[in-house]
Amino acid sequence: MRQIAIIGGGPAGMACAMQLKRYKLEPLIYEKDDTGGLLRNASIIENYPGFPFGISAEMLVKNFRNHLIKYEIDVRHQEVIKVELQGNNFLVETAEGQNIHPLLVIATGTKPKRIRELDTQEGVRDKVFYEVYPVRHLNDMIAGIVGAGDAAFDYAVNLSQNNRVYIFNRHSKYRCLPLLYDQVCNCNSITYLKNNVLSTLEKKDKGLSAKFFFHGEIMDYYLDYIIFATGREPQMDYLSEEIRNMLDTLIDKKKIFLIGDVKNDLYRQVSIAVGDGVKVAMEIYYQG
Ligand SMILES: Cc1cc2nc3c(=O)[nH]c(=O)nc-3n(C[C@H](O)[C@H](O)[C@H](O)COP(=O)(O)OP(=O)(O)OC[C@H]3O[C@@H](n4cnc5c(N)ncnc54)[C@H](O)[C@@H]3O)c2cc1C
Repeated sequence: MRQIAIIGGGPAGMACAMQLKRYKLEPLIYEKDDTGGLLRNASIIENYPGFPFGISAEMLVKNFRNHLIKYEIDVRHQEVIKVELQGNNFLVETAEGQNIHPLLVIATGTKPKRIRELDTQEGVRDKVFYEVYPVRHLNDMIAGIVGAGDAAFDYAVNLSQNNRVYIFNRHSKYRCLPLLYDQVCNCNSITYLKNNVLSTLEKKDKGLSAKFFFHGEIMDYYLDYIIFATGREPQMDYLSEEIRNMLDTLIDKKKIFLIGDVKNDLYRQVSIAVGDGVKVAMEIYYQG
């Protein structure tokens, strides 16, 4: 049997691949980056069963990767640019070429809601981020985080060990876990600012001048970089129009399977993504 394509090497894709291997099926993971997915952005995972004292996300990712190695899973570090239907199969295209697969598991998680105008603004765009992973190694920086949910607060905790951090919330209420909120409030290197609405971002020295409206006044902050944690949406840009139009049918026919954050709306958790991956691997096996 030709390889089952899994697009995305986050927790969902990795768990699915491992379970398929246990059935002696041959999965192939396409991953555009390092394996680990969004989990690489988290600090401590306290709700993954089996770790009563929590586990650092870095260690959990390492364990997942070792598990992939143990099962000798074929991971191609390539971005899937396009997927098209070819008869009863899928033609998966990356910059390195094309492959045909009989089944497709979509595990590409979510993408950030980007601020388009900042992506093109000269002197600013290289200081704007949507995840913490690319800047986590930097020390002694002044970091700004825009957002009020779990991701924003978790990013702040993550960066606070070696940096000064500001969280800017446009509203008065936070939306993160109370546990995270308490952690932020007890951390000397994090300043949490509510009712701050971003006005402009401009290049200043090696960083940014970030101006925020606060009760009718303009407040100006110097930041080395800024991270927007202002929402995410499912990532399936690479599917052809034909596949998108037939997605429900292809799912019903068990030709395409969606697992993890890409389909889980608000329920974005590692344990759910892993459960989806294992379940779909079993479905694939039992359908023969
Ligand atoms: C800051 C933060 C803290 C968190 N804390 C917790 C927590 O404490 N507990 C918990 O349970 N969950 C937590 N989560 C959520 C958890 O990380 C996600 O639910 C989980 O990673 C989802 O797994 P996934 O495999 O569905 O998607 P993802 O992890 O998003 O993986 C998707 C993968 O697909 C790849 N990909 C995307 N497009 C393509 C393409 N075209 N070609 C090839 N590859 C592609 C991506 O690079 C990525 O590796 C946290 C998330 C964040 C951001």
